[in-house]
Amino acid sequence: MEVNVKKTYEKPVIQKLKTGFTNKFGGTGFYLGRNIRKDIDGVSIEELVSQFGSPLFVFSEKKLRQKFRELKEAFTVRYPNVEFSWSYKTNYLDAICSILHDEGETAEVVSEFEYEKARRLGVSGEKIIYNGPYKPYDSLVTAVKEGARINIDHFEEILDLERVADELGIRPKVGIRINMDTGIHPQWSRFGFNLESGQALDAVKRIASGNKLELVGLHCHIGTFILEPKAYEKEIEKLIKFAYQIEDEFGFKIEYLDIGGGFPSKNRLKGIYLPPEVSVPSIDEYAERISNALLKNLRPEDYPKLILESGRAVVDESGYLITTVHAAKRLPSGIKAYVLDAGVNILFTAFWYKFNIEIDREIYGTTEPSVLYGPLCMNIDVVDEMTYLPPLPRGTRLVLSPVGAYNVTQWMQFIRYRPAVVLIGENGEVDLIREKEDLTDIVRREHLPERLRGKWE
Ligand SMILES: *Cc1c(COP(=O)(O)O)cnc(C)c1O
Repeated sequence: MEVNVKKTYEKPVIQKLKTGFTNKFGGTGFYLGRNIRKDIDGVSIEELVSQFGSPLFVFSEKKLRQKFRELKEAFTVRYPNVEFSWSYKTNYLDAICSILHDEGETAEVVSEFEYEKARRLGVSGEKIIYNGPYKPYDSLVTAVKEGARINIDHFEEILDLERVADELGIRPKVGIRINMDTGIHPQWSRFGFNLESGQALDAVKRIASGNKLELVGLHCHIGTFILEPKAYEKEIEKLIKFAYQIEDEFGFKIEYLDIGGGFPSKNRLKGIYLPPEVSVPSIDEYAERISNALLKNLRPEDYPKLILESGRAVVDESGYLITTVHAAKRLPSGIKAYVLDAGVNILFTAFWYKFNIEIDREIYGTTEPSVLYGPLCMNIDVVDEMTYLPPLPRGTRLVLSPVGAYNVTQWMQFIRYRPAVVLIGENGEVDLIREKEDLTDIVRREHLPERLRGKWE
C-alpha cells in the first residue's frame, strides 16, 4: 500500500544578509562545524543518552579536580596557611563532595540538612564550617559537641550558643560573620554583623562580656560571581584591621580569616557581551591580590589561617547538560523556536547565564536566530532567548555548559521528573551518581485521607 506523506508546511522567512557579521557558528550563514561536541571526556553523547536517557547531567571528574588544583596552587604558593572548604549548597551530590574532600577540602554548610549530609558522608565535625542565618538550636548543640567551626550570624545566635555552652559545660570556639562595604553593589548586608556601623564591634563586646564563648575567627562572604579582584583586597584589609582591634582590646586571638567564596566561573552572564575568557579575571589575579593584602597588613610572623569557601569557580565548568530537541516551531514573529526536553526547573542558572551551546552533529543549513524553550507549560521556561543555530532536526542533542554549580541543588521537581546525573571518571569510566526520578519519589511522602479515598471513582 502506498502511503502519501504530506510534508508539513513551513512559512518561508526572508533574512537580511549581514555581510561581515560573525556569529558564533561561523558567520557565512552556513554552519561550519564549530560548536560540535560528540563526546564528553571521550565518552560519546549518544552512548550516554542511550544508557541514561535525556536530559542528562554529566560531570567530569578530570575537570573538577583540575579546577580545584588550579585554585589550590594559586593560593598555596602565595600564602603558607590556607584551608579550602567546599560550599555544599553549590553542589552537594555525594560523589562531587567526595572528590573535593579527597582533594583536601573541608565542608562548608549552611543548614542542619547540609551538616547532616556532610556527617553522613564521613566528614568529621572539626572539618565542618557551619554558616548561615538559620541554625536550629539542636543543630548548634550537635555542632558544638562535634567541634565544628560556627560562624555566628546575629545576636540571637550568640545567646543560643551561650545556652549551648552552659548546657554542655564547655567554652565553644566561635567566629562571627561580618558584612562590609568593599565597593561591590548591591552590598550583601543581610548576613552577619555590619562593620562600618559598629555592629560587628558590638557583637564582639557582647561575646566578651558574656564570657562563655571564645572568639577565634572572622568570616565574610561578599557576594557571588565577583568580577573585581580588588574587592577582596579591601575585604582582607578591613578584616585584618578589625582582627587586631579585637586582639588588642579584648584579648581574643583571631586564628582564622574566612573570606568566603564568590569567585566567578568561565560562564557568560546575561548583559555582559565580552566572552568569559576576557571578562572573567584568572584565579591567579584573585590569589595575587588576596595574598598581597594579607602579607602587607598582617603583623610580622603572624599567619592566621586563610579559609576560602570554594563554590561556583570550582564546580561550574565540570558540569554539562545534555538535552534533546523535541520539536521545532516558527513563531509569528518569524523567529525559529525549539522545544527541548530540559527546562528552567532543572537549570536554575538559566536566569542569569547565557550557556555555551554545542551540537552533537554536523548540520548544514542557514543559521538563524532561535529561541530555546524547555518542556514546561510555563511562559518563563526559556533556556536561551536568542542564539544562532542551524535548522535542528528532532532528536538533535544539545550540550549546555557550564552547569555544574547551583543547578543540581536548586533544581526542582516540577511538571516533569528530574533527570539522572552521571560522573565520568579520570579513566573514562561512567558512573550513575543520581538516578532519575520516578513517581515513587514524588508520592512517597503523600497521604490521602481515608475520607477522600475512592469518592469519585
Ligand atoms: C554560597 C556560599 C559560598 C560559595 O559561593 P560561590 O559564589 O559559589 O563561590 C561560600 N560561602 C558562603 C557563606 C556561601 O553562602
